[in-house]
Amino acid sequence: MVRAIVGANWGDEGKGKITDMLAKESDIIIRFQGGSNAGHTIINNYGKFALHLLPSGVFYQHTTSIIGNGVALNIPFLKQEIEDLTKQGVPAPKILVSDRAQILMPYHILFDTCEEARLAGKSFGSTKSGIAPFYSDKYAKIGFQVSELFGDEEELMEKVENVCTLKNVMLKHLYHQPELDPKEIFQTLMEYKEIVAPYVCDVSKYLHEAIREGKNILLEGQLGSLKDPDHGIYPMVTSSSTLAAYGAIGAGIPPYEIKNITAVVKAYSSAVGAGAFVSEIFGEEADELRKRGGDGGEFGATTGRPRRMGWFDAVATRYGCRVQGATEVVLTVLDVLGYLDELPICVGYEIDGKVTKDFPTTHLLEKAKPVYKKLPGWKCEIRGIKNYEELPENCRKYIEAIEEELGVPITMVSNGPGRDEIIIRK
Ligand code: GDP
Repeated sequence: MVRAIVGANWGDEGKGKITDMLAKESDIIIRFQGGSNAGHTIINNYGKFALHLLPSGVFYQHTTSIIGNGVALNIPFLKQEIEDLTKQGVPAPKILVSDRAQILMPYHILFDTCEEARLAGKSFGSTKSGIAPFYSDKYAKIGFQVSELFGDEEELMEKVENVCTLKNVMLKHLYHQPELDPKEIFQTLMEYKEIVAPYVCDVSKYLHEAIREGKNILLEGQLGSLKDPDHGIYPMVTSSSTLAAYGAIGAGIPPYEIKNITAVVKAYSSAVGAGAFVSEIFGEEADELRKRGGDGGEFGATTGRPRRMGWFDAVATRYGCRVQGATEVVLTVLDVLGYLDELPICVGYEIDGKVTKDFPTTHLLEKAKPVYKKLPGWKCEIRGIKNYEELPENCRKYIEAIEEELGVPITMVSNGPGRDEIIIRK
């Protein structure tokens, strides 16, 4: 059975925790899109980890962790991440890398950095991990697939020279940077070949057989619906699809095998980077929630930068669940809201004097003002509670109000960052 764990908001919903938790019952966990540009924070018996490229299943010995073909593969980063895990006492995980994954090159990071600097005040707020230049090159057909490292070296060198000719025009004339040396790039690719060789696999075939054998497979998404290049807040989005449907492509499996789509939804809103954020809050109110949020404040796992904060946005999240095709919702980080006297839920957007419940395209979204419904707070600690019925009544009312807005069953409620801090709803 294949299950996708994806974000229905702007990312940072706690997918890592849920994947780590569900990985216990799984055989294979796959990253199918994105790269090392976002982090999943995981707290378990080995300690606290921020994973960026590896799937959140690497903490178990019985699982196989896969980097699918849809991922932006930063090879030295992968090496470092594996070393960091084993250094912290995690047994060496079983890792496979798709032979069809493409390689994130050092010049992708350089171009990302140069472009953000060129855009200055109008930048996208990129993590400068090279993701946008990487995917641009992939679709311009000038990227390097892992399999090419193992092919004819002369052909590879020829391609490197061609790519450098293109890149150097931009570097010299637009960004005023030193030009790339094809020999150096080729050398880098040969070093990458050595690092990645032990992990390379025909992942699609491997998964085909695993599905036939009835293995439990998890697809782990990065970021969330609203950062999807097609269905998100374009252009303030990421460069690969964040949707469960893309899991089929980015892992190489038939779409109809994804039986379960678990949308992870955070009990309040947070976002990084630029772009419209209707239920955003500011000042002391935001600082308080940011300080209390997550497992030690809402600060980026990759960049450490403060996340933008907001109240729960039912309009964005219902849309987020719809484009994911969510079959169930896990509501996370509910425990941090226990300090509030009242909890606003954004249940509508007012655009040009009209209230809508439909999530609009970007130019209208920028005009939207939140319409709030307010619910009373529960004013107590809910960590440690294991049964849904034991949650305070106002807390259950908050969950049920969200469920009604979303129209998707909330099957699990996460009330703490730890692996076991989860309430399963019957
Ligand atoms: P991801 O990218 O979706 O995996 O999310 P992040 O790891 O960036 O952000 C989620 C943060 O919330 C992490 O620091 C988690 O440890 C933390 N977290 C996850 N679930 C809960 C929860 O139920 N309660 C609390 N307090 N923190 C949580």
